[in-house]
Amino acid sequence: MSDYDLFVIGAGSGGVRAARIAASHGARVAVAEEFRVGGTCVIRGCVPKKLLVYGAHFAEDLNDAAMFGWDVPEKRFDWAVLRDNVAAEVDRLEGAYGQTLSTHKVELIHERATIASPTSVRLASGREVSADKILVATGARPFVPDLPGAEHAITSNEVFGLESLPRRIVIAGGGYIANEFAGIFNEFGSKVTLVNRTDVLLRGYDEQLRDRLVQISLTKGIDFRFNSQFSSIERQADGSLLAKMDGCDDLATDAILFAVGRKPNVDGLGLAEVGVALGERGEIKVDTQSRTSVPSIFAVGDVTDRIQLTPVAIREGHAFADSEFGGKPWTVDYDCVPHAVFSHPPLAGVGMTEGQARNTLGEVKIFTSDFRPMKNVLAGRNERSLYKLVVDGATDEVVGIHMIGPDAPEILQAAAVAVKARLKKADFDRTVALHPSMAEELVLMR
Ligand code: NDP
Repeated sequence: MSDYDLFVIGAGSGGVRAARIAASHGARVAVAEEFRVGGTCVIRGCVPKKLLVYGAHFAEDLNDAAMFGWDVPEKRFDWAVLRDNVAAEVDRLEGAYGQTLSTHKVELIHERATIASPTSVRLASGREVSADKILVATGARPFVPDLPGAEHAITSNEVFGLESLPRRIVIAGGGYIANEFAGIFNEFGSKVTLVNRTDVLLRGYDEQLRDRLVQISLTKGIDFRFNSQFSSIERQADGSLLAKMDGCDDLATDAILFAVGRKPNVDGLGLAEVGVALGERGEIKVDTQSRTSVPSIFAVGDVTDRIQLTPVAIREGHAFADSEFGGKPWTVDYDCVPHAVFSHPPLAGVGMTEGQARNTLGEVKIFTSDFRPMKNVLAGRNERSLYKLVVDGATDEVVGIHMIGPDAPEILQAAAVAVKARLKKADFDRTVALHPSMAEELVLMR
């Protein structure tokens, strides 16, 4: 008999969910984690990032407060206070994750584990344990381009622990992390320059929304350098950095943040040795059941690079555990996964963009609402929101909703139910507006 029914490598969102559900089905489960329990999302991703987004937004709210009658005499931001409070919250959540595992009688092994055979795992201490099934849930890590002086730059791993707030920061990349941290640092008062290799930010998002974000970001003081690449980074005598550039002038700065994508964590895991097939981007190839090319080895989450989002990893882990240990097989439905960028203001979307719909469907109807939220009007803030409904002309189904504006992710999550349920534009029209709100625009577009 094996030591365990299931051995999970990696205690992030996907691994913890799979372990807990498998154990609740009666499986004997162990999880190995070399770093901290909770994975990227809890320790150095979504959670601390969102807290920084909240912290950053006070800059605007405190400014706008005057028009609402509040006298805010002097405001001063203390990075160390926010950084340490966020770190304390992350510690608390890490404890809660560990507690969940122990409540479900999952053995937590604080060691690096590598695959020794299709049914055994070798721990850093040298101990080898056997398991009927192995689940790889090792996530991904920031990609750092190979260029001279790259070691002077930071990634999203280090950004939460910065000793002090940089006066100037250059952010490389045009995706989620780049735009979110551009907003965060800009609100904190750093001079932000975002550098992207093309002139397309947030590939995959609706074009009009992306343009709106650039327009608003420029108004807020964020600088952009498009079609530009780093050729090297040099540390200057005064401690500052000089980025030598291709495509734009060199950039003098105090910090450089690389946010140019994430790579699956597969190195040194022993995958190739046991015959687990990898894809072109280094991701573990899996079938719809999250099974790899080795029947006893499975993988979920970012290491499989299907959709790099926490709720997706959690579903993959849950489906795997129910299917393999609960006698209730099911697979993850990747259609209409809602997504959001927590920029200032945030973007959110679900379903097809206008471009995707026009390339796929016959007749497409587009409804937009371009408005200035009431709060912004009183505050004198010239920042407009944009909502868009993409409708299949043949069926009247709303196949996509895309929004930029305050609270867009909060509103979009509820609206995503309607898109997933394939509701029609007529159903939106039949719904009475909730007034006064921004979300009411969704049912008022004609
Ligand atoms: P993204 O994939 O979002 O963006 C990567 C950016 O870097 C793109 O602009 C890309 O350009 C550019 N890029 C890629 N390779 C290079 C290169 N070699 N040199 C220069 N530029 C390059 O990655 P992130 O790192 O921002 O985030 C990783 C993933 O994490 C996201 O895809 C997302 O799934 C997840 N995430 C989700 C968040 C959320 O849900 N709010 C927040 C943060 C992360 P191009 O478009 O030309 O390829």
